[in-house]
Amino acid sequence: MITLLRLMLQGAYRNIARILAKADRATSIEIRNKVLNLSVPAWETVLDEMCIGCGACEKVCPTKAITMIKLDKPVEIIEGYKREKVPRIDLMKCIFCLNCHDFCPIFALFGEAAPIHARDVGSPRLTLNEILKKPIKAPPEKIEELKKLIPSEFFKSIRR
Ligand code: SF4
Ligand code: SF4
Repeated sequence: MITLLRLMLQGAYRNIARILAKADRATSIEIRNKVLNLSVPAWETVLDEMCIGCGACEKVCPTKAITMIKLDKPVEIIEGYKREKVPRIDLMKCIFCLNCHDFCPIFALFGEAAPIHARDVGSPRLTLNEILKKPIKAPPEKIEELKKLIPSEFFKSIRR
């Protein structure tokens, strides 16, 4: 009985200390406020500057969570080939299968982290220019598979 009473008093004291003195707080007040205000920023899912704009990710997404957005100004990323669109992921529709990453030519052809990742795209190791100068690593059957997803002008530009 005495032990139970002691535990109850200890629990009550800890809870009061947590509320009044903010003891044992694991998250910052800033994050708590952002959660309460529904203003926690979403993580980055696409690195526009690393994307070739091929649209392969949009084609392989099983839930149609990806939409290609037209750029105001197309960007020439390699002679004879321009990036005209970039993908955006609707995380409400995403099932995190990572098909988009695995079929992206930056990963599938060059073996580099793709500029798209539904669970935070991270930071690139190389610039897009550096990646496109690397030899293609993919086996012939993978290249044939990707040719159905990626504009032919891109292959013409990198395989001269
Ligand atoms: S990870 Fe999400 S966005 Fe990417 S292909 Fe899968 S469902 Fe689509
Ligand atoms: S597959 Fe990769 S390079 Fe192509 S549009 Fe998607 S993110 Fe960009």
